[in-house]
Formats: sequence, structure tokens, C-alpha cells
Amino acid sequence: MPREYTYGPFNSRRLGVSLGVDILPKYKLCSYNCVYCEIGPTYQVVSPEHRIKAPPSSNFRKELKDILKYVPHLDSITFGYHGEPSLNESLLDFYKVAYDVRNELKWTGTPPLLTLFTNSSTLYIDEIRDRVKHFDLVLAKLDAATDEDLNKTNRPHNDCPDINRIVKSLVKLRNDMPDKKLAIQSLISNSYNKNYYSNNNPKNIRHLAELITKIKPDMVQVYSIARIPSEYFVYAIDENRKREIVKILRELINNDNIEINYY
Ligand code: SF4
Repeated sequence: MPREYTYGPFNSRRLGVSLGVDILPKYKLCSYNCVYCEIGPTYQVVSPEHRIKAPPSSNFRKELKDILKYVPHLDSITFGYHGEPSLNESLLDFYKVAYDVRNELKWTGTPPLLTLFTNSSTLYIDEIRDRVKHFDLVLAKLDAATDEDLNKTNRPHNDCPDINRIVKSLVKLRNDMPDKKLAIQSLISNSYNKNYYSNNNPKNIRHLAELITKIKPDMVQVYSIARIPSEYFVYAIDENRKREIVKILRELINNDNIEINYY
């Protein structure tokens, strides 16, 4: 039977052995159109208030059960791929199925985390945070710390919140999920185009440190482009620059409870 919802498992540098779960339609559905997006341009960028109602079919449970019994060393069941998963009204229904299936099975070591990728643009909505907070690990995007960098890097829909509001919602989410893990993911890139000032600029990195200090996540993950980007003019920062950014963030944030690494 062809798979409807899952892909992998594959080895992820940040998550270990990870099984991907895609709960969106088979086209990209996103409130951002990031310059570096590895799944191509968002042809129709949607409002963060846009919703689809696509509940899990019975195949989801069956698919998960069939795969998980063969991967007793799985580290993460990871939601996200074709865009922003919280745009599906039924996110929590999928979560509940995955939670049940994971708990029904016997694991040789620690059971896999239920992990969610979000671009953070919908988190200002209370009911979205109420869904998202259930996941064991939330990987929330924050590439930009100024509105200028947000608009250039993530190219959000006009209805998307500004940086100030995004950060307030991340602080709320942090408080809503005290027993779960929150990671901030910052993708930093360079540009060949002299008219495009990339988010790899000192002002953005300094302000990111200020915002992360307010959010108090468990982890910060600095990374860069690893596949073909949506726009030809952006390219990855090198290992030295990643290391340098991590050093700057560690010094400015100065909080041992926040693990800051690059990938
Ligand atoms: S938020 Fe994710 S899926 Fe959406 S455009 Fe950006 S990188 Fe692509």
C-alpha cells in the first residue's frame, strides 16, 4: 500500500533517526515563502488564519503501526514537511493517533519524541498554541530578529505577525509547555545578490540574541542551507561562520540553561 502520511525514517543531524509525518495536502501550504525553502517557492502564500480541515484517515494509524514495529530505535516522529502543519485544523487529531500508537508499542530504549516543526507565524493564535504545546519537542523558526530581515528572508503573508508579536507568542508558548522542550531554529544564509542584504548581518544576529534571551527556549539550533534553495541568489554560510554565530549568541545570551549549537 503506498504511504499516505509518512516518509523515511531517515537520519537527521538534529533529531537522530526520524520518521517524517506530513499532514498537509500534497502541495505546499505555507504562510511564508522563505528565500531558502528547500521544497521550492510558495506559489500561493496563505494567511496564518487560513485553515484546512483534513483529519487523519484510518490509514494514518495503520501506516504508523506498520513502520514503527520495524524501527525499535526511532528517535523522533516528526511533523512537518510540505509547509506549516498548524494550518491543518486537525493537527491535534494526528498528534493523538501518533501518541497512542507510540505508547502501545514496546521500545528497547527511550520512546521516540513527538516533534513538531513550525514557522512560528500562527503561534499568536491561542487555539494553535493549545494544540502545539502537547508535542514533546517544538522546533520553532526564528531566522530574523528585525522586521526588515523577516520580510526579506521569510517573505510572510501580509496578515502574518511582526517580529514583536512573534516573540510574544513564543514567550507564551514557552510558558504553556513547561515540561516539554522548545527549540528555536535559526537558518542563516548568505547572498550573491548585492541588492539583497541577507540575515547573516551583525544587527540581525545581535537582536536574535536579545529575543532568545526573552523567549528562554531549551535549545537554539543555528544551521544553514543544505539543499537546493528556492532562490538562486542565496547560499549557505560555512562552518566557521556558524561557529562564530554560536559563540556570539552564547556570549550575549549568557544563560547556561539554553543549549546553543550549530548543525
Ligand atoms: S516556513 Fe518552511 S515550508 Fe514555509 S516557506 Fe519557509 S522553509 Fe518553506
